[in-house]
Amino acid sequence: MKITDVKTYITQLPGRGPWQFVEVYTDEGLTGLGECTWSAGNFLIQQVVESVKPLVVGQDPANIEEIWQLIYRRHLRIGGRGPVSAAISGIDIALWDIKGKALCVPVYQLLGGPVRESVPLYTHVQDARQDATIDEAIAMALATKADGHQAIKTDPFLDMTTSGRFKGASLVEKLTPAAISYAVEWVSALREALGPDFELMIDAHARFDVASAIAAARALEPLGLTWFEEPVPQESYVALKEFRENTNVAVSVGESLFTRYDFVPIFEERLADFVMPDIAWTGGISELRRIAAMAESYYVPFTPHDAIGPVAIASTFQVCMATPNLYRQECLHNWFDDFATIVTPMFEHHDGAIWPSDRPGIGIELIHEEVERHAVSGHMS
Ligand SMILES: [Mg+2]
Repeated sequence: MKITDVKTYITQLPGRGPWQFVEVYTDEGLTGLGECTWSAGNFLIQQVVESVKPLVVGQDPANIEEIWQLIYRRHLRIGGRGPVSAAISGIDIALWDIKGKALCVPVYQLLGGPVRESVPLYTHVQDARQDATIDEAIAMALATKADGHQAIKTDPFLDMTTSGRFKGASLVEKLTPAAISYAVEWVSALREALGPDFELMIDAHARFDVASAIAAARALEPLGLTWFEEPVPQESYVALKEFRENTNVAVSVGESLFTRYDFVPIFEERLADFVMPDIAWTGGISELRRIAAMAESYYVPFTPHDAIGPVAIASTFQVCMATPNLYRQECLHNWFDDFATIVTPMFEHHDGAIWPSDRPGIGIELIHEEVERHAVSGHMS
């Protein structure tokens, strides 16, 4: 079998995405589906996929590892990460999909077989910055709990920060005392509404300087958080270490780290209690599996990030089914109805979990008419 083409599609449903999908075509009629969505970088990633196409077309799609290494090593001098690792991700997922289809088995069977009946999820309520009131967040949290979910994440931090003229443009922000007080109020209200045993995570989205992140963590410590996610920006392991040494909250990081190599200091320096790589950014099914195995050897739970499109969640699910040190897979459960309009069949989900099927590969296909109907102008193929 030979790869004959690689195509990308950027599509945006109202209020969602935009999502970027990859399809790898073969001369035997099998097609593989992947995703490499990155909202701010979709067109850049699309350019990378186009530029690596000559490396991929003509190859045997069974040689997943060889193709992964070929693209990564060719771009190592410019880091191999970001748009490159995202492009690799989309292609890698599609190649695993082809392999599963060729062998008539779900991808999780190729990864060693299932180690669980289903994959437990965690989901979101509104973030404080989304103009929601605390009462609205509580209402959504209670509805989510009633729907069968047992774990929820929220960003409780308002934009009551000081960061000068680059506010909102990823310059490191400092939380004000008022912002920390509001975060405590936000999380306390959710804790009271959901009860002491419900899992609550918070996400700082890598925004804050070390001192105010530490102050926030200390204020939130009594509220029984499952984790405090990305308390400081991702570039500095030293900053994360300083946060670790001065707080008593569990830390989750990884959505901003790409390839297994970025995770080495996290494990070696004991910088996180959970790791959360994203399948569409860090290097696909192959790399997600490797990072999970690294985490296992340090007794760190694996809890993959997943807040983009339906192909990412379906392929992450395949890895989670076969991964012993899984904690929970992330999802945005209120996007599932939209997923069902552009992929078929929609994966089975209920009771706060995704359930396996016997469908080969990653188990879903794009509904091309819908992808095209919502195509974002400017896409290349
Ligand atoms: Mg996050």
